Amino acid sequence: MVSRVIPVDDFDLVIFGGTGDLARRKIFPGLFRRFLAGQMPSTSRIVGAARSELDSAGFRDLISDALDEFSGDEKSNTEGRKAFLAQLEYVPVDAKGEGGWKELAELVRGDVVKAFYFSVAPSLFGDLAERLHSHNIADRHSRIVVEKPFGRDLASAQELNETLAEHFKETQIYRIDHYLGKETVQNLMALRFGNVLFEPLWNNHYVDHIQITVAETVGVGGRGTYYDRSGAMRDMVQNHLMQLLCLIAMEPPSQFGADEVRDEKLKVIRALQDVDAHHIVRGQYDAGSDGPSYREDVEDPKSHTESFIAMKCHINNWRWAGVPFYMRTGKRMKERVSEITVVFKDLGHSIFEGDTARHRNILSIRLQPNEGMDLQVTIKEPGPGGMRLIDVPLDMTFADALGENAAEVSDAYERLIMDVIRGNQTLFMRGDEVEAAWAWTDPLIEGWKARNDVPKTYDAGSAGPEDAMMLMHRDNRRWRDIKG
Ligand code: NAD
Repeated sequence: MVSRVIPVDDFDLVIFGGTGDLARRKIFPGLFRRFLAGQMPSTSRIVGAARSELDSAGFRDLISDALDEFSGDEKSNTEGRKAFLAQLEYVPVDAKGEGGWKELAELVRGDVVKAFYFSVAPSLFGDLAERLHSHNIADRHSRIVVEKPFGRDLASAQELNETLAEHFKETQIYRIDHYLGKETVQNLMALRFGNVLFEPLWNNHYVDHIQITVAETVGVGGRGTYYDRSGAMRDMVQNHLMQLLCLIAMEPPSQFGADEVRDEKLKVIRALQDVDAHHIVRGQYDAGSDGPSYREDVEDPKSHTESFIAMKCHINNWRWAGVPFYMRTGKRMKERVSEITVVFKDLGHSIFEGDTARHRNILSIRLQPNEGMDLQVTIKEPGPGGMRLIDVPLDMTFADALGENAAEVSDAYERLIMDVIRGNQTLFMRGDEVEAAWAWTDPLIEGWKARNDVPKTYDAGSAGPEDAMMLMHRDNRRWRDIKG
């Protein structure tokens, strides 16, 4: 199996915040891989623009070091690295002042695809948009890419959308949720809408419930101050988990087009029911043998911010009426796992005498680690001695299925950046989607603040607070084990 790489049109990509953590860890290593894959025209350019007073040579050194630190085996391709670095330029730019903008305007070409990646604090988005315009650097075909967090509530997200809309049309704005760039997430759509097997079962007649788990082993580490102002709900649920929920629950779009897909996702968010206070469990990790507690990490002994949240949600529409969606995410949990699990209903009647076990088909879609899917099916236990049934997984780990081409499965960031250059917005969040997500999230956060809800502590390295287990047990269900 040979994967096809389709080169993109010639482009100038300006990365504001090009010296920052995200740029060094994700954006440049991703671009390097796309370069090596032959996807970038040799005339295309990537321009770092940030506050540091560097020249292009200094910037190339910085990025070379970043590739050493964050790239995979491809970093040993010295010829490739040299050629890639030669396509980089740097301009010191002050988003809040006039410094550097004239130089940037002179550098960016007029006759190629122009994309501007805002890998800076959201408080600078408005300044960048404004100056890209006043200096005539962006035109009506240019694209801007903005990072999360997109607001911290509905009002701030609306304000941000309005600010960007002063200078850019919605079709020019690419709001990144890197979960949407993951191979498995797109495969979820292929699975649902490219097979005849699953879609007929994808509803409340056959699905008992759905679980979405995003568990991290890391704590809040050095991001304590930022994190304590947001918590798991704002940091993970409002964006990543809700996007996964949308893809699993949406109706089939009429075609795989940006607006068709996003219209259907929006309908899911709008159909989400308010969540009963009893169906939300918030937690904070305790100190473990290898790390401090959440409150120590954020240096606030009274913090009420959650590092874990579990909730039971319902989608008010014909397809999903009565089917609970359980979501949970947390830090300092026992394994790093992101997974969606569709648990199908029990058989109405078993014809096999003496078979008292509950056999269920379970489809699990793993985003990490080992991207892939497995489907639990019931078969006869091999051997003589009657008809005994066992459940076995039909496992498809992409790395196994794709063999040597597995290395070519691109990382979320590189795929998304190439989509920006191609002008494909399907895997980016539209402004109304982000606002609808906040409109659902805001009252839940206000609710627990009004109740003065105190998060339950949970052991570092566990599966979260006991109450999260109870959320399922009360319904006679259980979470899938968190297994890496
Ligand atoms: P960072 O602090 O490491 O880097 C910030 C960058 O912005 C630097 O290049 C700095 O020079 C530049 N900058 C700051 N003020 C400037 C100004 N006035 N004018 C021009 N440039 C200026 O931040 P980061 O971790 O790279 O994050 C960047 C953005 O990406 C943030 O919005 C963050 O929330 C988001 N994000 C980061 C990560 C991550 O893993 N680091 C993940 C998701 C989202």
